[in-house]
Amino acid sequence: MELKRSLPDKWDREVDVVVVGFGAAGAATAITAHDAGARVLMLEKAPKGQEGGNTRVAGQGYLNVSSADEAITYFNALCGPYPVPQEVVRVWAHESTKNNEWVRSIGGDPQEHQHPPVGVEFPELPGSECVHKFHNGPIVGFSETWKLFERAVTERGIEVLYETPARELIQNGATREILGVRAEREGKPHYVKASRAVVLTCGGFENNQEMIRNYLPGIPYCYTSGTPYNEGDGITMAMAVGADLWHMNNFAGPSMALKVPEYRTSFSMISLHFSRESPGGMVVVGPDARRFADEKHHTSHGKIKVSGRWTPLFTPCPMFMIIDQTLFSSGPLYNKEPRSGWNPMVDGYDWSDDNRAELAKGWIKTAGTITELAGIIGVDAPTLEGTINRWNEDCLVEEDRQFGRTLMLSPFTDPPYYALELSPSMLNTQGGPRRNEKSQVVRPDGTPIPRLYSAGELGSIYSYLYQGTGNIGECLVFGRISGRNAAAEQAWD
Ligand SMILES: Cc1cc2nc3c(=O)[nH]c(=O)nc-3n(C[C@H](O)[C@H](O)[C@H](O)COP(=O)(O)OP(=O)(O)OC[C@H]3O[C@@H](n4cnc5c(N)ncnc54)[C@H](O)[C@@H]3O)c2cc1C
Repeated sequence: MELKRSLPDKWDREVDVVVVGFGAAGAATAITAHDAGARVLMLEKAPKGQEGGNTRVAGQGYLNVSSADEAITYFNALCGPYPVPQEVVRVWAHESTKNNEWVRSIGGDPQEHQHPPVGVEFPELPGSECVHKFHNGPIVGFSETWKLFERAVTERGIEVLYETPARELIQNGATREILGVRAEREGKPHYVKASRAVVLTCGGFENNQEMIRNYLPGIPYCYTSGTPYNEGDGITMAMAVGADLWHMNNFAGPSMALKVPEYRTSFSMISLHFSRESPGGMVVVGPDARRFADEKHHTSHGKIKVSGRWTPLFTPCPMFMIIDQTLFSSGPLYNKEPRSGWNPMVDGYDWSDDNRAELAKGWIKTAGTITELAGIIGVDAPTLEGTINRWNEDCLVEEDRQFGRTLMLSPFTDPPYYALELSPSMLNTQGGPRRNEKSQVVRPDGTPIPRLYSAGELGSIYSYLYQGTGNIGECLVFGRISGRNAAAEQAWD
């Protein structure tokens, strides 16, 4: 009776395995399940040309560890006070030694990153020697690793339904098995039967401001530099069928970036890039017109060490980057030659060389005096004056006596002055449905929801500290595990 009630009158499509979301995790899952003999269908929310999620616009690195034992030690150290079950860590570590082998098996050419200082994110932690970061092909970035995954899916003839977001998992009311997906296609429900399993690989909640307020620590809003299509749909769908959640407060951020209404994702400001030196005065202030941090702090994916503990960078909102004419006229404030990020790689906004177009659009405000600028951005004028004066005095003695900043120690000189409102920004979230070592989505009591798997940043295993290239590495690991196990399920009819 209950089974009948939970089924649609008619399935629009019938396959063995439905993969929801076409990024690295979706690709690894679909390729593996297909190669194991399953009929696979991928559902993708974005239109063709904008699929690929964060993977498409990422730095393109993936982790391949050199020793599973060291990787277990390192991962446990990264988790710190937020441990992850050891059976999950073990399977991740063993599979992480095989990412290069798998990339080669689909026609790729793994190349190790050649910039060691950013290689191992936490070299002081035990086991960190296992970290090796790779990308596909001779150049890093420019979607090159993604293009390999996309090609491998296309070559296999795996069908992708674009502009077809999954909306609901169809569950057998009696057995709690997942039987298929209700997607939306051309504004209508589209029912897809999955006779073996459904795998959720539809990314995080980077574009869901309500989830950001509920789950991310201390930020009222945040914008991504990745895909605009990840809106936490996998979390909502998994919760509705009884999934437990984990790591919801962990994310690769925040940094500070410009977000304008005309564009869906954020612009990173060149003057804030760690290690980039530019001439001219630059500080960032909070709503109280005071500085709150070393603006050029080198964070570990958004985290800094405070009192011996890693914590997300403090970002009071709104924040304003205040600069002088020297910096304004020194060149574009935005990095015009990026290798990653949605805005440059997909939307392709061409920032003007002299920043004048952005001034005309109102993205940058200007005034002849600091007092006048304070009035325009709505902060207390005497306090902002005090902040700039104090900064200038610190520059004279070449010491930031407040926050110890060592880069761009230049005073404010010639007017006019400029302000850009900055927002907290992130690469990606890590939270989502909890998974076990078989990549099954589990309930709060740890039992699996039958025929439901997940992979990728949707419910990533990273609980606290994050090792760069770990996300795509994890996509490949749990994508392969999901794909194998989903294909091996007994069909339900
Ligand atoms: C600028 C940037 C640089 C980064 N650099 C690196 C790096 O070098 N190395 C690294 O490891 N990590 C990096 N990351 C993080 C990494 O890119 C992601 O964590 C990883 O790519 C996530 O892969 P995924 O397959 O889980 O999700 P995604 O690649 O985000 O794919 C999810 C897909 O699901 C689709 N989708 C969403 N909702 C639905 C729905 N309801 N139905 C159907 N489809 C849906 C989306 O459109 C998207 O195509 C970076 C992130 C950013 C933003």
